[in-house]
Amino acid sequence: MSIIDNLGKVIKVLQKAGQIDVINTLIEAQQYILELQSQFFSIQKQNEELKNIKELENDVVKHKEGYITLKSEESQGLQYCGICWAKYRQLIPLIGKSKSFGVFFPTCQICKAEFDF
Ligand SMILES: [Zn+2]
Repeated sequence: MSIIDNLGKVIKVLQKAGQIDVINTLIEAQQYILELQSQFFSIQKQNEELKNIKELENDVVKHKEGYITLKSEESQGLQYCGICWAKYRQLIPLIGKSKSFGVFFPTCQICKAEFDF
């Protein structure tokens, strides 16, 4: 049983006793607790995202050509945009884009940067 549920029970008892001022104070306290819970969950989510980014930062390998790879994906040969990683800490896979007949450049789908390697 949560504190919100318990406050709800107390409020019902006080309603029967006609304690309007106390009820209003308890309702405000309930709303404040709900707001704090919401802020807590939001901060918890942000903290989880920051932990994930920190883990990724330790996994990233920067290449002189401007793209990045992940140590944990070494066998897969996946490449990501180094610009989007630097700006937004997002892993955007590079996709081969046809520049001319038979020539493909790895390209970022978001910032459209082309890499020549
Ligand atoms: Zn990009």
